[in-house]
Amino acid sequence: MEDRPKPKFPAEGQVNLPTESAETGLEFTGYEISADGNYFNQFMHYDQLYRLRHGVNSRFFMELLNGRIFGTRCPRCGDSFVPPRTNCWRLDCRLQPTEWVEFPPTAKVHTWTVAGWSGRSSLKRLPLVLVYAFIGDSKVAIANELHGIEPWQAEFGMPLKVVFRNAGERVGAVTDFWFEPADGWRPPRMNAERKRIKALVEPVYAWVATMK
Ligand SMILES: [Zn+2]
Repeated sequence: MEDRPKPKFPAEGQVNLPTESAETGLEFTGYEISADGNYFNQFMHYDQLYRLRHGVNSRFFMELLNGRIFGTRCPRCGDSFVPPRTNCWRLDCRLQPTEWVEFPPTAKVHTWTVAGWSGRSSLKRLPLVLVYAFIGDSKVAIANELHGIEPWQAEFGMPLKVVFRNAGERVGAVTDFWFEPADGWRPPRMNAERKRIKALVEPVYAWVATMK
């Protein structure tokens, strides 16, 4: 077979994306708490209704309703985890059960990406910056959106703050909060890579502007 040139997308000046979407997509619609106050089930609608049982991780979700980040800490080695781990991950700790602790509303970017496409419920908010971030001194990272920033300004290791929805709008889901740059953070200067990302997301902004 002869070598063919690699196709390049999109063609100059052309972006072929759908101009509207009538679908609403995934939504966390509500929750229920067990009579003893220890267990939390999430209701999620995605074409049909789902009930997500959070079991021993329930407290993480219930505290989101209170606008607080709770995770776990190993009483033997001190490693801490958001999202929570039920047992320590260190072999030396021999599956030591962890304890619940409150974390500060501060975080640091571990890694990030810019989403130019998404599920139906987020289409109109594209492009989205998604990060994996360490909250407080957590040894594991949690995924969420990074708001208050241009997509090409995201940086590895940048300091963040946790921002919650208003109390009446929370449903005990990770969508109850998002990240924003920490107070005092200054956007980095443009460089070749940031210009490249900017050029990639500009058609996405143009497309979203055409959506109803
Ligand atoms: Zn441990």
